[in-house]
Amino acid sequence: MGNCFSHGDQAKAAKVQKDGAACEPPAEPEQNPPHSANGTTQKPAAANGGGAPPAARPAPGKPAQMGPVLGRPMEDVRQTYNIGKELGRGQFGVTHLCTHKATAEKFACKTIAKRKLVNKEDIEDVRREVQIMHHLAGQANIVELKGAYEDKQSVHLVMELCAGGELFDRIIAKGHYTERAAASLLRTIVQIVHTCHSMGVMHRDLKPENFLLLSSDEDAPLKATDFGLSVFFKQGEVFRDIVGSAYYIAPEVLKRKYGPEVDIWSIGVMLYILLSGVPPFWAESEHGIFNAILRGHIDFTSDPWPNISVGAKDLVRKMLNSDPKQRLTAFQVLNHPWIKEDGEAPDTPLDNAVFNRLKQFRAMNKFKKVALRVIAGCLSEEEIRGLKEMFKSMDTDNSGTITLEELKQGLSKQGTKLTEMELKQLMEAADADGNGTIDYDEFITATMHMNRMDREEHLYTAFHYFDKDNSGYITTEELEQALKEFGMHDGRDINEILSEVDSDNDGRINYEEFAAMMRKGNPEVAANPKKRRDVFV
Ligand code: ADP
Repeated sequence: MGNCFSHGDQAKAAKVQKDGAACEPPAEPEQNPPHSANGTTQKPAAANGGGAPPAARPAPGKPAQMGPVLGRPMEDVRQTYNIGKELGRGQFGVTHLCTHKATAEKFACKTIAKRKLVNKEDIEDVRREVQIMHHLAGQANIVELKGAYEDKQSVHLVMELCAGGELFDRIIAKGHYTERAAASLLRTIVQIVHTCHSMGVMHRDLKPENFLLLSSDEDAPLKATDFGLSVFFKQGEVFRDIVGSAYYIAPEVLKRKYGPEVDIWSIGVMLYILLSGVPPFWAESEHGIFNAILRGHIDFTSDPWPNISVGAKDLVRKMLNSDPKQRLTAFQVLNHPWIKEDGEAPDTPLDNAVFNRLKQFRAMNKFKKVALRVIAGCLSEEEIRGLKEMFKSMDTDNSGTITLEELKQGLSKQGTKLTEMELKQLMEAADADGNGTIDYDEFITATMHMNRMDREEHLYTAFHYFDKDNSGYITTEELEQALKEFGMHDGRDINEILSEVDSDNDGRINYEEFAAMMRKGNPEVAANPKKRRDVFV
């Protein structure tokens, strides 16, 4: 797009090789004690963030060295945050409480030691986790990444603070959930899975340790985290690498031929655990667990199952169907009678983010659309990688543009069926130059998340793009020139567009008026050491 710098193209196939990370295929029996068998995931902890503008902020006087992991200038996280007490530690990272020096806002900072990233693949995993967290930023019930920093020793991920700890610990504390409480929790979890899938992301490591609670309140919101094993996927793409955590791995993963249905399996395992306190496929060793998964027998005879409703068992069975094609989809889970009993179930397909964003974009005036185009050009590769993957998956003939038919197919694969009229309207909205197709830049502009407006430097860049003479004001002439540059001058009176934004009526737009327009109407969120499988029994 190139208003600021090139995005480059580090894109590579969505597939990652992460074989045997936590788990070996059953062919390689491993006599692990139950403690480790539970499937601590092995993967580099995530990284990324939108904290710094990618090309910005070298230390005064000397240019900052490039960080080999994030691929941008190194930066000291301690310049912006005070690092506080330790919240917890995982396999790759130590998480600390941190406080923004200027705003006193509290966050969690996960620090990944670079010495633990031993090969190229480890580094790529961290990068991908950053890209995916950027891509999912702003989605409800997903831990929000605030920024990523790299210094000589470490990569630091500053994230939304989830002070309530892991869902895992709450399950332990409760023993098991009532059916109603489990149904309500499962509803949220299935929505999260749907969101990830509709954004083209498969999590691949869903388990109670990877859901955090925003606070210690009983009804605290749940947040999915740890996208270290997640990947971008396209419809129909087949994955073969064995990743995940033993108890939660779907049988088709062990057979090395799978797609996003694996996430439904994993949350089916979670549902079984929520209701009974023990995992459905259990053995003394990893090898034994895998064999149990492949056998697929679900025990509904031991306590407390005889006292659990027929409906709950039916849902567990359908989520743990060994055939991924027969397994329920997220939408079907939400429409299962047991989960619907005391909750709202959608009777139309679930919305998807691209569709919502296109609709939102459609309603904007041209001034704002051009400003977004400028901002889109400033986003880093790590921030837009996910949208790039979505663009590629919609552009089925690889022509570099999305046609009306491709848009229709793409949205319908994600479960959104539109009338011809709605489709045409979305197409026209995104197709800034009116040539009948959506090109890559147009797609990113129309579908990027509006939380990018939180970044002051983006707004400044866009403002200065219009304010060519640096007067501090955008004039009628400057706005007209910018609209023409992007082929978006449709003859509408420029003064009319300008007057909608010009709140002090001086005939020109200052920065405050511009920022107010950009932010208007954009809809828009402790730790204990990990405990493992032995606590279940
Ligand atoms: P790893 O990926 O290295 O396994 P984790 O993601 O498990 O690291 O994080 C380590 C610990 O930090 C966990 O105990 C987890 O509960 C805690 N933690 C991680 N993210 C947050 C967060 N956003 N807020 C609060 N605690 C967190």
